[in-house]
Amino acid sequence: METAPPVTETPRAPRVTLPGTRYHSVRKTVQSICFVIFVLLPMTDAMRFDIPRQRFYFFGAELWISEFSILFLTMMFLWILVAAMAMIYGRFYCGYLCPQMIFSESATWIERRIARAVNRKLSKWNGLTRKWTARAAFYVMLLPGSVFVTFVFVSFFVPPADLFQRLLSFDIRTAGGIVGASVTLLTFLDFAFLRQRFCTVICPYGYLQNMLADRHTLLVHFHDPNRQCINCAKCVRACPMGIDIRRGSHQLECTHCAECVDECSAILGKLGRPSLVQYGWGELDENSAANRKWYRRIGLRDGKRFAILILLVIYATGLSIAIGMRQPVLVRIMPNRITLYDVAPDGTIHNHFRILASNRSGTKTELSLSLAGLASGSITGIDRSVTLAPGETLQREFDIVSPQAGLAAGLSRVQIVVNLTPKQTTATFEETFFAPIEAGSRPGARH
Ligand code: SF4
Ligand code: SF4
Repeated sequence: METAPPVTETPRAPRVTLPGTRYHSVRKTVQSICFVIFVLLPMTDAMRFDIPRQRFYFFGAELWISEFSILFLTMMFLWILVAAMAMIYGRFYCGYLCPQMIFSESATWIERRIARAVNRKLSKWNGLTRKWTARAAFYVMLLPGSVFVTFVFVSFFVPPADLFQRLLSFDIRTAGGIVGASVTLLTFLDFAFLRQRFCTVICPYGYLQNMLADRHTLLVHFHDPNRQCINCAKCVRACPMGIDIRRGSHQLECTHCAECVDECSAILGKLGRPSLVQYGWGELDENSAANRKWYRRIGLRDGKRFAILILLVIYATGLSIAIGMRQPVLVRIMPNRITLYDVAPDGTIHNHFRILASNRSGTKTELSLSLAGLASGSITGIDRSVTLAPGETLQREFDIVSPQAGLAAGLSRVQIVVNLTPKQTTATFEETFFAPIEAGSRPGARH
């Protein structure tokens, strides 16, 4: 190793790396938390796009597919959040949060541990036999791991209890079972052979993040204006993506995991120098007075970033309002105007209506109908009180009926009042009741 040149202060150092930080430890802590969240989200119904039931579970709210506005706002909010993250913090998601990266790194770690154990315990065997024994042992361990990861992943789309039943019965005959088995096989192949190659070859989000990055985005930089690099190549050997950060900060494969930062810090630290590889906000002068402002130090470095943050707040507010105004029991009443009115054999006048009620809450709800605005009128064809189980939808035809005597000719305004218990909410529907214009309509006539 050659003697290091004297350390000089670099005037344009884009460094934001915290001295003494081992990013590997930070990353593993964050990844462990993310793993727990990844497992808990579908298991606790905090987030699931439930395909069989056509529901979207989102932090306590059970949204129906028909609730387009809330689904739209949720999707837009998540999409803008992802875009804002990529624009401000670069590929932070890939390096710290992504389950694919977490499981890929775990697979590599387990594979190395197994190879080391096999080499140590079976040192008398020849190299090729040891290699294949280690690989076989790794595949055997990977299989239950793949089943578990698939189980959690598919739980984002199918209730875990249903999934568990299918798993216990080794269901590979139904469409759901075939999908589960296929995803398990793909997961196994991914972590056995692809791992981080998935990030550069398949993942669209990786490409998207690179497209959203600009000259203010947080990146990992190699910055060596004073030629202090000792060419030890430790940063290259540590890189899980197999790249050389010294060739530039905007390499497509770089996930900004900072393993190279740790390695360079460790080796140059022994010589009393700071790492040449650092996190930095774009390519700008980090030491200028303007860049010391707190909002610039957290990444809000231009108007575009403030704009996307404001947009995020607007969508979050819209989403909160939409969820707050959400009706847990949706009731719609529509007139059935195939006929304006019928005259029954007993001479009474019938107007036909249809009710559609969906209980989108998690509790049983009692729905009762009453009529106002038509003194002689009543509702027939539906029970006064109907109980709706959670998730149940009721669709029923009913009539408003009135004797002709005392009935105003032509149009009358009526109100159909729907009471919901136990919420004690009332919805009033303004409707029109048609009666014959001339008295003495023929019984059985349809108009
Ligand atoms: S170059 Fe550094 S930051 Fe980029 S992927 Fe490799 S180790 Fe991670
Ligand atoms: S670890 Fe640091 S000193 Fe060694 S080659 Fe990489 S950048 Fe140069």
